[in-house]
Amino acid sequence: AIPVITIDGPTASGKGTVAQLVAERLGFHYLDSGALYRLTALSALQAETPLDDEQALAKLAGELHCSFSNGAIFLNGEDVSMAIRAEKVGNAASKVAALPALRRALVELQLRFAQVPGLVADGRDMGTVIFPDACLKVFLTASVEARAERRYKQLIDKGFSANMHDLLKDLNERDARDSNRAIAPLKPAEGAYLLDTSNLTVNQAVEQVLGWYAA
Ligand code: C5P
Repeated sequence: AIPVITIDGPTASGKGTVAQLVAERLGFHYLDSGALYRLTALSALQAETPLDDEQALAKLAGELHCSFSNGAIFLNGEDVSMAIRAEKVGNAASKVAALPALRRALVELQLRFAQVPGLVADGRDMGTVIFPDACLKVFLTASVEARAERRYKQLIDKGFSANMHDLLKDLNERDARDSNRAIAPLKPAEGAYLLDTSNLTVNQAVEQVLGWYAA
């Protein structure tokens, strides 16, 4: 079987950074599943599809023309790496992610990332729904303050404007939506290792995951 490591957790917990580095260290492929929801949300915003039109949104998700290359993400041939990181898109992503038909439309695409020599997949339901047989499952958390601070730095670094008050509010809203939705709610998978990164450096978190994988 192809080894799969799943890293799930709330918004801005640092899972993307940790997952990418673990993938690099092991020479594995990397799946940023949140990007697929962000791409669907961006398509919907561009096409002015209402964010509650489940059938239309599922169709958009099923027909996404996206590709990933060298860390850049393309939608219909256009580099949208930056555009999908905007808070507006993240928020829309968390709304459309609550729609079952849309989630179903993205399953196949996600499964296709599991290729030799292995995969590190990050998201909300990688261990619970998409890769329940993963050989290592990690649930990464951090305090809401630590996460808001990280997201703030990330946005400023990317040239977006941001303010802490709005970020905290957004994070709390998004966490509540992701944790309370009826389908694929954010929660630790069975057998997942919990990793609280509030007081860890990125490197310490990466070493911990690699340590669990090697054990
Ligand atoms: O991880 P990221 O913030 O990029 O994800 C954007 C949104 O996509 C999340 O708020 C969540 O609602 C949704 N998502 C999901 N399942 C995943 C990954 C992301 O529902 N596996």
